[in-house]
Amino acid sequence: MARKITLIPGDGIGPEVALAAKRCIEATGVKIEWEEVIAGQAALEKYGEILPQNVIDSVKKTKVALKGPIITPVGTGFRSVNVAIRHALDLYACVRPAKSYVGVRSNYTDIDLVIVRENSEDLYAGIEFEEGKPETKQLIQEIAKYNKKKILPDSGISIKPISRSASERIVKFAFEYALKHNRKKITAVHKANIMKFTDGLFLKTAREVARRYEGKVAFEDVIVDNMSMQLVQRPKNYDVLVLPNLYGDIISDLCAGLIGGLGIAPGANIGDEMAVFEAVHGSAPKYAGLNKVNPTAMILSGVLMLDYIGERQAALRLENAVKEVVAEAKFVTYDLKASRDDPGIVGTQEMADAIIAKLK
Ligand code: NAD
Repeated sequence: MARKITLIPGDGIGPEVALAAKRCIEATGVKIEWEEVIAGQAALEKYGEILPQNVIDSVKKTKVALKGPIITPVGTGFRSVNVAIRHALDLYACVRPAKSYVGVRSNYTDIDLVIVRENSEDLYAGIEFEEGKPETKQLIQEIAKYNKKKILPDSGISIKPISRSASERIVKFAFEYALKHNRKKITAVHKANIMKFTDGLFLKTAREVARRYEGKVAFEDVIVDNMSMQLVQRPKNYDVLVLPNLYGDIISDLCAGLIGGLGIAPGANIGDEMAVFEAVHGSAPKYAGLNKVNPTAMILSGVLMLDYIGERQAALRLENAVKEVVAEAKFVTYDLKASRDDPGIVGTQEMADAIIAKLK
């Protein structure tokens, strides 16, 4: 029986990279019945809202979605459709593997890291108070009653909540991921020396969870600023990193940089019951509709999706096909060529064709 999967093509370059990924996934032979729903700009034009309820309902039903990047139009009341989807479906773990592929220009080789970023809280919770607003002034006065440190009256305030329960579930997720994928070490990243009650709680909880996995997966913790330097100098010392939301966002882009950029960086947002797979990159509006951009990040997100639904062999075959095409550097998009004037540059769909042709 075909597996039902929600397809959200997205905005900008989204529909073209989603199409390329869909074609590659179908070419593995895994039977999929796609339920296509629209969110973002196209949904705004058709339904008057950027995140229609049927998108959320569809993923709740199928439990798995492949999603193209979505622009967040200014002034719609949403901070980001992408963040709204993760919140609505409680996709608390953002998993971003950063793996070197031969043929991609980078200062590093043989990188194989996995970033596990907490997706639901921290400074991304969206609890903010604007400078000058009466409620902001009131909050500043209220805080002054409990803390001697002065907040200037012309401040804006963003709240950073970090809970024991959300920290526990993300660290547990990282350990379970490590066990399932034969990974050897978890590094918890934090700034607990400064933010004792938020990052400190994250670290304390991470240490408690780590004790349950003693003898199975190694554990260490590193302060985020040191981590940034370590990753640039000695990335091979690390394996799976688990981080609160904001550090996870920044460090996963750093790691995308280690492997040669956004064109090849896949991602997944995973909860206890469902998951949405999407590239790390955005909708790159200036390239929309040009059949120009690299579909690899989206195709590799499809590889993660196949693995998640239990189609491990198909996932491996598709990843190997991507590896071969990228290594040959013949049928690849502009960003994977040494020169932008290379007459051999191919388009998004042609690169997908080359990957499909390699599928064994
Ligand atoms: P972006 O990732 O869309 O593009 C930045 C640059 O990276 C592009 O100009 C291009 O040079 C390069 N790039 C990105 N994807 C590529 C690909 N597949 N192949 C080759 N080159 C590629 O980032 P941005 O310009 O900051 O954001 C554009 C829009 O995307 C914004 O509205 C933002 O909110 C949105 N966004 C969405 C998501 C998501 O849907 N998860 C993530 C990030 C940004």
